[in-house]
Amino acid sequence: MMRQYELVERVRRYDPDADEELLDRAYVFSLKAHGTQKRASGDPYFSHPIEVAGILTDLRLDDETIATAILHDTIEDTVATYEEIERLFGPRVARMVDGVTKLSKIEAQSESERAAENLRKFLLAMSDDIRVLLVKLADRLHNMRTLHHIANPEKRRRIARETMDIYAPLAERVGMYEFMKEMQTLAFRELEPEAYESITRRLELLRDDSGDRIARISSGITLLLGRHGIQAEVTGREKHPYSIWRKMTERHISFEQLSDIMAFRVVVADTEQCYRALGLIHGRWPMVPGRFKDYVSTPKRNGYRSLHTAVIHSETARVETQIRSEAMHAQAEYGYAAHWAYKQGTPADTGGTKESWIRDLVEILDHAESPEELLEHTRMAMYQDRIFAFTPTGELIQLPKGATPIDFAYAVHTALGNQAVGAKVNGRLVPLRHPIANGDQVQILKSAGQKPQPEWLGFVVTAKARAALRRFVRNKEREEMIVLGRKFYDEIVAGLPAPLGAGAMREALRRLHLPNEDALMEAIARRTVDDEAVADALMPGVRGSGAAPPRPLPHRDAVSIRGLTAGVAFQLAQCCHPVPGDRIVGVRRPDAPVEVHAIDCPALASEGDDAEWADLAWGESDGGTARLHLILRNEPGSLGAMAGILGAHAANILNLSLIHRDRSFHTFLIDLEVRDLAHLMRILAALRAADAVSSAERVREDEERWEAA
Ligand code: MN
Repeated sequence: MMRQYELVERVRRYDPDADEELLDRAYVFSLKAHGTQKRASGDPYFSHPIEVAGILTDLRLDDETIATAILHDTIEDTVATYEEIERLFGPRVARMVDGVTKLSKIEAQSESERAAENLRKFLLAMSDDIRVLLVKLADRLHNMRTLHHIANPEKRRRIARETMDIYAPLAERVGMYEFMKEMQTLAFRELEPEAYESITRRLELLRDDSGDRIARISSGITLLLGRHGIQAEVTGREKHPYSIWRKMTERHISFEQLSDIMAFRVVVADTEQCYRALGLIHGRWPMVPGRFKDYVSTPKRNGYRSLHTAVIHSETARVETQIRSEAMHAQAEYGYAAHWAYKQGTPADTGGTKESWIRDLVEILDHAESPEELLEHTRMAMYQDRIFAFTPTGELIQLPKGATPIDFAYAVHTALGNQAVGAKVNGRLVPLRHPIANGDQVQILKSAGQKPQPEWLGFVVTAKARAALRRFVRNKEREEMIVLGRKFYDEIVAGLPAPLGAGAMREALRRLHLPNEDALMEAIARRTVDDEAVADALMPGVRGSGAAPPRPLPHRDAVSIRGLTAGVAFQLAQCCHPVPGDRIVGVRRPDAPVEVHAIDCPALASEGDDAEWADLAWGESDGGTARLHLILRNEPGSLGAMAGILGAHAANILNLSLIHRDRSFHTFLIDLEVRDLAHLMRILAALRAADAVSSAERVREDEERWEAA
């Protein structure tokens, strides 16, 4: 067991200003408090907190953290109290010891109790001070190192399972890869003893067989590159047993088939040399198909750049290789510290080392002016843009800061996002744009009749939600374009001098290099192919033959509404209520005013054959009328609040009707006079932000949809 002076000496070696007296007092206090308690190994209990403190001196942590480690089990396991610790060691140490104690209580509970509520406390406590988590991880690591002393196999398995599921991922998240690997190795040995034995035995056999292969392959690569004038620093390592096992189970292969058990990193001077080195390596050894990734030309989202490849070095050795420049390497190292919140889920073989982030942490510890500032730094670095929220069943969902219930819904499942109509946060109804806070419990209310609302794009923050919404909007727009295009197509065909032959469409698609009819209709609507080209493709020669079509092709030049008013009567369609800023089209019928529709108006699909279409643009305008569908909470003052918002935005109410009421909500349709689309959007945003308003949407389609939802 480490002696008092040894421990103090270790701390003073990296921190000459450490509070020696604090450490001495903690040592003596803990020694007395634990008294004659014994570990399962038969060692005095006191050896455990001292070992934990020792692990943390390897990470060069500050004196308060080391004192916390020495004291970490005193409140839980001895007669010592929080007040006592606070009086003797100060409020900061006391708070950290208390934090570790709280985390430890979670382990003591059963599997089912450990769900949402506890995990939530766990994460919140952890985010309070990263040093609490570091002590807890070191505590767990030491307990894993001594796990074999516990006689009860059930208990051993439970601890190992928990380490695998909770602590190893936590260690990974904060960038402590060495902790993570050791925890995984020890837990793996407990949970899958046979697999563990077999893999370690095979690794040893391979090592005996072929000597130090890592050194040989490393110097082989260095020599190859050197001969071609490339100075490279090559490092290699063997993958650890658990990551090998995971690969075997993921890919359903045996150890023999799994030949890539080594990984190498090649650091060269610049980008050009990266590609040259890659070429030389691929020229010397055959590459494994499908394993090459160019993160230099297309960096990962967190800025990570490297070339990844795997080559067949020999029959029994595939070799994973990362090639990067010195600048990329530095960036990757810095990136691990800056982006440790993102680390989870990226493969461990991107080669992070504990030194990089610990350097960063030590830097923070060294330079922070006050404990508050230090806390701020560490918390910012770790949680700068992450929050954790829970489903009603206690499942933990990780989201970026600013995420809304829609982001949450899409994170749970795309179908849930698509059908979301409302949300409760901690049991209270909230608007769909309400930002979720750390630790919130979120319940998504859904309806089978609901469809994603394009407006959601205005406030979602996750890539998944954005992608799902874009996909939906794109598909919807495409469907409408196809309908619109078919309209023009019919006009084009009507303008041809003769009826079309049976194979004309197929031939036309071939000539225009389009895969199918829908693509043609879309191309016509988007004007990526002009009408004459379509006519010519349908009936070759019709353009050049001089046989002019009996009547002109439909005229579709862009016209401003102002231009229209000068000569042509028009009216804004009552189905879609377009306002300035909307994309619009005009529908012309014989002997009727031009009807102006929003381009996404569903009524356009059912226009009759006698209509002619015109692209329109807005000119100067006095505004328009928009129809809103508004759900208010049935609470005193709701209606007044709504009227207040509309008044504050100078939006005139032309018409208001109550279409549905129940105990909780009142649903209205409101026609508003607005200046333009931006004005309308500001009003919608203000309404949605109001407590009284449960939902506010613009009505763009038939009203039945709202009744259904
Ligand atoms: Mn402990």
